[in-house]
Amino acid sequence: MRILVADDEPTSLLIAQMALRQLGHQTHTVTDGAQAWDAFQSYRPDVVLSEWMMPGLTGLQLCRNIRTRTSGGYTYFILVTKQGGDDQIVEGMNAGADDYLLKPLNLNDLQARLIAAARITSLHRQLAQQRTELEGLNHALTAITVRDPLTGLGNRRALEEDLALLEARVTRYGHRYCIALLDVDHFKSYNDTYGHQAGDQVLQAVATHLKEQARGGDSIYRYGGEEFLCVFPEQFLDTATIAAQRMRRGLEQLAIPHTLNSGGVLTLSAGLAMLDPAHTRSVGEVIKEADMALYRAKELGRNRVEHATGQPA
Ligand code: GH3
Ligand code: MG
Ligand code: MG
Repeated sequence: MRILVADDEPTSLLIAQMALRQLGHQTHTVTDGAQAWDAFQSYRPDVVLSEWMMPGLTGLQLCRNIRTRTSGGYTYFILVTKQGGDDQIVEGMNAGADDYLLKPLNLNDLQARLIAAARITSLHRQLAQQRTELEGLNHALTAITVRDPLTGLGNRRALEEDLALLEARVTRYGHRYCIALLDVDHFKSYNDTYGHQAGDQVLQAVATHLKEQARGGDSIYRYGGEEFLCVFPEQFLDTATIAAQRMRRGLEQLAIPHTLNSGGVLTLSAGLAMLDPAHTRSVGEVIKEADMALYRAKELGRNRVEHATGQPA
C-alpha cells in the first residue's frame, strides 16, 4: 500500500518508515501537519499514519480535513499517540480516524492494523467500482427507455419529456416551434405485400431518411407505428412546410417499391401546426391540429403536406 507517514520527531519517523518498508509498503514521509495535508492531496495514499501532536496542523485536524474536504477513494487513517491519551483516542475516532497506535510503535501492532487497513480500503474500492458500474447501467437503462429500438429515434416518452420543456420555453421565453406529423402512406398494404420484416426495414429507412433531411436543431421522434413527429424550432409554417416538403419529396425519390401505392413507390403525408407565444394553445392541442392537417393530406390524395390553417401547402 501507499502510506503517508507524518511525524515531527525524526527518530519516530525513521522507525515507522523502516518498519513499513520492511512490511513491503511504499512510504512518503513528512515532518509537520501542513506538509502532510499538501502531500496527501498529491500523493493520494491508501493509508495515513499520523502523529497526533504536530506543528502546523495536528493529526486530528489533518484527519478532519481528509474526511470533510476530499472526495474520491477511501483513505484509512491511523492516529499515533503517546501512552495515556485515552480521551484523545475517542476524539480522534470521532473525527474520522479508523484506528490508533500507541508510541513507541510495536511492529506486530502496526502489521495487524495494516491488515485491517488493506481489507477496508479494498472493500471501499470494490464498492466504488460497483457504484460506477451501477451508474453506467442506470445511464444505459435510461437511454433505452427513451429510444425506439427499431429506428433508434426518440420514442413517445422522450417526446413527452421534450415537449414539456418546449412548452415552457414558448410561454417563458417567447420561442416558437412548428410540429409536423409524418405518416407513411398505405403502410398496411406494404406489410401485406412485402411482409412485416420488410416493413420494419422500411421504417428504419424512413427514420434514417428523416434524420438525414433534418437540419441541426430539428428533432425527430417515432410517434407511433408508421408515424413520425418532427419539431422545427424557430420556424413559421411556411418555412417548416418547405422542410416537410423536402422530407416528403426525398422519400419519394428514394423510390422504395410499393406496388399498391399510387406511383408505385413508398410515400408519406404530413400535417403541420405551429406552437407560438401569440396563441394560448397547449402543445397537445397543437399536435391535434397537426393530426387534423395530416388527416386532410390523406383525404386529398396522400403524398402531400398540409398545415393547420387549412391552406394548401
Ligand atoms: P394511411 O395511408 O391512411 O396512413 O394507411 P396505412 O395503411 O399506412 O395506415 P393504417 O393505420 O391502416 O396502418 C398502419 C400499419 O402500420 C398497420 C400496422 O401493422 C403497421 N405497423 C405499425 N407499426 C409497425 C412496425 O413496427 N413494423 C411494421 N412492419 N409495421 C407496423
Ligand atoms: Mg400510414
Ligand atoms: Mg398511421
